[in-house]
Amino acid sequence: MIKIDCPFCGVRDHSEFSYGGDGSIEWPALDASASDWVTAVYERDNIRGKQWETWHHLYGCRQWLLVERDTLTHEIHTVKLAHSGCGQLSR
Ligand SMILES: [Zn+2]
Repeated sequence: MIKIDCPFCGVRDHSEFSYGGDGSIEWPALDASASDWVTAVYERDNIRGKQWETWHHLYGCRQWLLVERDTLTHEIHTVKLAHSGCGQLSR
């Protein structure tokens, strides 16, 4: 079972969250080529070990988080807000 330590809500079961996908994608500019967009949207590494992922705390504070998770052990190493300026942390 995966436990995620939300910066706002504390440690919660992953069932409260919605997986958002690869958190390491660098999205191209809106006027980038179709090829750049195809690469960003469809081409993914299949990482064995630590990877950055986005998770939405859907049944909690509703914040988007960046989570560094090990794909082999599911151990969570780092959790931080996905966007700056999301308000002040309460803890
Ligand atoms: Zn939360």
